[in-house]
Amino acid sequence: MNVLKFGGTSVKSAENIKKVISIILNHRQNGDVLGAVVLSAMSGVTNQLIEIGRMAATNNPDYLELIRGIEERHFNVIKSLIPIKEQSKVFATVRGTVNELEDLLRGVSLIRELSDRTLDLVMSFGERLSCLVISECLKSKGVPARFCDARQLIRTDAQFSMAEVEETATNQQIKDYFSTIGADLPIVTGFIGSTAQNETTTLGRGGSDYTASILGAALNADFIDIWTDVDGMMTADPRKVPNAFNIPTITYAEAMELSHFGAKVIYPPTLQPAFAKNIPIRILNTFNASHEGTVISRTADRRDFTITGISSIDDIVLVNIQGSGMIGVAGVSAKLFSTLAHYKISVILISQASSEHSICFAIEPRNADRVREILEAEFATEILHGHIDNISIERDLSIIATVGEGMKKSSGIAGKLFSVLGKNGVNIIAIAQGSSEINISVVINKNNLSKALNAMHNVFFQSEARILNLYLVGAGLIGRTLLQQIQAQYEYLRTEKSLRICLVGVSNTKKMLLDPKGIDLTNWQERLSSEGVTTSLPAFVDKLKDYNLPNSVFIDCTADKDIPLFYEPLLNANVSIVTPNKVANSGPYADYKRLQRATVRRGVKFLYETNVGAGLPIINTLQGLMTSGDRFLKIEAILSGTLSYIFNTFRPGVSFAEVVREAKAKGFTEPDPREDLSGMDVARKILILAREAGFELEPSDVTINNLLPESCIAAPSIPAFFEELERNNAFFENLLQEAENRNEKLRYVATFENGKVTIELRSVGFEHPFYSLSGADNIISFTTERYKERPLVIKGPGAGAEVTATGVFADVVSIGSYLA
Ligand code: ADP
Ligand code: ASP
Ligand code: MG
Repeated sequence: MNVLKFGGTSVKSAENIKKVISIILNHRQNGDVLGAVVLSAMSGVTNQLIEIGRMAATNNPDYLELIRGIEERHFNVIKSLIPIKEQSKVFATVRGTVNELEDLLRGVSLIRELSDRTLDLVMSFGERLSCLVISECLKSKGVPARFCDARQLIRTDAQFSMAEVEETATNQQIKDYFSTIGADLPIVTGFIGSTAQNETTTLGRGGSDYTASILGAALNADFIDIWTDVDGMMTADPRKVPNAFNIPTITYAEAMELSHFGAKVIYPPTLQPAFAKNIPIRILNTFNASHEGTVISRTADRRDFTITGISSIDDIVLVNIQGSGMIGVAGVSAKLFSTLAHYKISVILISQASSEHSICFAIEPRNADRVREILEAEFATEILHGHIDNISIERDLSIIATVGEGMKKSSGIAGKLFSVLGKNGVNIIAIAQGSSEINISVVINKNNLSKALNAMHNVFFQSEARILNLYLVGAGLIGRTLLQQIQAQYEYLRTEKSLRICLVGVSNTKKMLLDPKGIDLTNWQERLSSEGVTTSLPAFVDKLKDYNLPNSVFIDCTADKDIPLFYEPLLNANVSIVTPNKVANSGPYADYKRLQRATVRRGVKFLYETNVGAGLPIINTLQGLMTSGDRFLKIEAILSGTLSYIFNTFRPGVSFAEVVREAKAKGFTEPDPREDLSGMDVARKILILAREAGFELEPSDVTINNLLPESCIAAPSIPAFFEELERNNAFFENLLQEAENRNEKLRYVATFENGKVTIELRSVGFEHPFYSLSGADNIISFTTERYKERPLVIKGPGAGAEVTATGVFADVVSIGSYLA
């Protein structure tokens, strides 16, 4: 025999009630015995009744309108689901009940007071109305339904709004009632009960689940089925963690911890009666009835994950009592908690520092002021004598609980938990581990809740799909190529590398688009142009911070001078950065160092492999040598693809100007080729390498031996520059000739040695590694303590959108593995 309970959403409307009816009819057709059906009020009605009560108490006549709305909802169900000729009788019953409610509220508005006792009576109308109407609907479908007001079954004490059930009397009343009803199916109002004096009480919000469990236990049911609006108990609240998934089996203890810490899908007291009688509770979905849902019982199946679920209470306050007088004084905590118990203040979590210098505990915010008053009165003497310094209250906090029987057997869960929160910049304010060892709870700031829940869910349940949230600024050639590459590799990364890349923001110089749900990589350009708003970097960064998504990565694919000003605040907000933009690393040394420090302090990444040599593994190699303790003696490099191309192409019979023109036409140079020929870009790159090698250098420490004659530099325009270049052809030919005479080649080389950086045009012989460089390639040679005899050389294409994007992409992916 089963007891079924349907929640507020399941009975919200005629359409939903049809589903409830068909579930009940199905059971009967299958020959299942149904002991009772417990129903909630239609969703939203209990909240409205509370509001109505408060409005009446303040003599606000608008409450009548709300009552009409509630009546209307029930009438609509009658109209849709009950044959016309049977409707009038049901309308009359509903009208009668609503009249009773109105009389009561008239009284409330006269005395201008709403006690907890009266409010319980007001709230009882929600369940009474829904059961009245639905029992009639069932009757009209041939089910021998019988309306049952639970006030005749559930006996409680007089603690209004949160009454305690008196078990013996209740069980007796249930047995008595069921012995009189024959084969009828009682449709029982959830949530409500009554005292021995026949005063109406309620069992606490969400209490209809509890009613079902009490009935199931009293009737020795085989199952207690809680029908709701989700596929069973999930690994987290699906409204907060979209990736949450169903838990097929779970123990009473685990379900208890999860619901105590906010998993609203089952009301915590519900578990006790079922547990005592060892009756399994099933959580099922009215809107997906064939889903197996969750079975809560003594044992659970083996699972693939070390924890079972994560839950949260969104809003709590933390009360902290501290003082030297608390050390070693047994009894302070005894006194504290017995006082709280006396005033029926429920404590959600307790955490004591090992020094015993302070105790803190979490309570609901509505109790905060009362608790402070109570404790200040209770500990007045201790405060007076300075044994207790103060009682402080911290607000706007949330609790997250990780729960699972598997935690008893495995170590490292706390470590994993703290590390993921740390990497995402979530500060832990208090920690508590239940003595049962199946729960570790942390208190954090409320504004980090969503990020923390999703990041934790990611590491504990989705090792097969870690998520990186990307924000791309600069959708030019490199940015676009990067997104193309990511799109092409998306499936591979997801299936082979367990990495899901989600583009959350993108902007070019004109427009920006941010969507926390993700921007499809196949049509981001259309969306950016149709939905994008005018680009504003501060607004972009504000939004990014506002979303507060876990594992966020900011990618700067521009050469902009201002964007790097945002790097430090971003790193401080625990956002990693990947960029080919050299500006941040090649300015004042102090700025470079500050960013380095921020990354270490925040445990995030700042990656810029593409600052030098595009996708070539130069910076990674250098950093690897540094961390393994090697020391740099000399760095020699050709770091400009443009200049490399120019000097590889310059040959007798062709003018130097012609070669530069050709390079410009091929897109190898900046619009003004002097930017390349001036050596500035090379200077930035070698400066970055020297800094990475541990040297504290400023841009002014770089000496550039100028390649261009003065008149070329001074030319007022680009055409004028080319003219000057032609005019100076003899100068360049001469350089070339001299090199050829020595069987050498012209190379534009940057050298770092003995703390000095020099950039100059040199000629090198065939024994030199730079002699045989071709095309637009870069080459870097590291001479270190360990690579002294023969330097370590890296060579290859060092420019171009495709290889630069590849380098950025590799940096992004490496953040994914670091965050795992
Ligand atoms: P009912 O009205 O059926 O009693 P509730 O709204 O009380 O339904 O509870 C169901 C809701 O509980 C779900 O819609 C879901 O948002 C929330 N919830 C919170 N935590 C969990 C969880 N771990 N698993 C499933 N649902 C959860
Ligand atoms: N109707 C009550 C509430 O909203 C009880 C329940 O639905 O379980 O809290
Ligand atoms: Mg509920």
